[in-house]
Amino acid sequence: MIKTVLITGASRGIGAAAAKLFAANGYTVIINYLNSVEKALELAEETGGYAIKADVSDIVQTENMINEIIEKFGKIDVLVNNAGISVTGVFDMVPPGDVKKLFDINVFGTLNCTRSVLPHMIRRKYGKIINVASMWGETGASCEVHYSASKAAVIGFTKALAKETGPSGINVNCVSPGLIMTDMNSCYSADELDGIIEEIPLGRSGSPFDVAETILFLASEKSSFITGQTIGVNGGMIV
Ligand code: NAP
Repeated sequence: MIKTVLITGASRGIGAAAAKLFAANGYTVIINYLNSVEKALELAEETGGYAIKADVSDIVQTENMINEIIEKFGKIDVLVNNAGISVTGVFDMVPPGDVKKLFDINVFGTLNCTRSVLPHMIRRKYGKIINVASMWGETGASCEVHYSASKAAVIGFTKALAKETGPSGINVNCVSPGLIMTDMNSCYSADELDGIIEEIPLGRSGSPFDVAETILFLASEKSSFITGQTIGVNGGMIV
C-alpha cells in the first residue's frame, strides 16, 4: 500500500530534498510550507505531491493541516518534523522576541505537529515520526546557545516519546545534521565555511540529500527495531 509522508518545512533545503527522495521511493508526499509558496507548488508538481500552508508554531494551524490531510489522503504514515530556523549571536545579546520565535518554531512546531498527528497513528497502531535536530543540540555551540538548547529539547522529546508510543507501534527517531549546504548557512562567509569544513573528518559539507537518505531509512521497515535514537549525519564532526 502506498505510504503518505508529511514533511514540515519542505519548500526548501533538507525538507525539499526529503520530499524528492520520498516521492522517488513511491510515497505520497505532503509538502508543508509557510512563506515559499511558489517553491512549494513547483515541488508538489514535480513530485506529484500536495502542498499545504501552515505555520507549525500555531497549534490551530497544525490541527487544521492534519485534518485536511486525513480527509484528503485517509492517513499519515510518516511525519517528518523538519521546519526550523536558526538564531545566532552572543547569548545575552539575542532579543527575547527572537528567542521566543526560535522556540515556537523549533520546539513547539515539533510538539504541535506531533500532537496533531499522534491520535491518528495510535488508532492505526502504526507510525514513524522523524525529528530533525542538529549536532549543536548534542554538543552545544558558542553563539548558538538558544538554537543548541532548542535542538537539545527536540532530542529529549524524541527519547521520551519513543518510550511512550513504542507500545502503540510508533517509532520516534531523530536525525542530527552537521553542516549542510542550505539557505540556513547563508549567514556564513566562504572563509567561515572553509574553517568549519576543516574540522570535518570527511572533508566536506553535507548535501540536503545526505540527510534525506537517513530520514528515508528511518521511515522504512529497514529501521523497524530502531526507536528513540539520534543519528548523526555530520561527516564525523562530532562523534
Ligand atoms: P532552510 O533551508 O532555511 O529551510 C527551512 C524550512 O523551514 C523552509 O522550508 C521554511 O518554509 C520552513 N519553515 C520555517 N519556519 C516555519 C514555520 N513556522 N512553519 C512552517 N515551515 C517553516 O533550512 P534547512 O537547512 O533545510 O533546515 C531544515 C532543518 O534542519 C531545520 O530544523 C534545521 O534546524 C535543521 N538543521 C539544518 C542544518 C544545516 O546546516 N542546514 C544543520 C543542522 C540542523 P518557508 O520557506 O515556506 O517559510
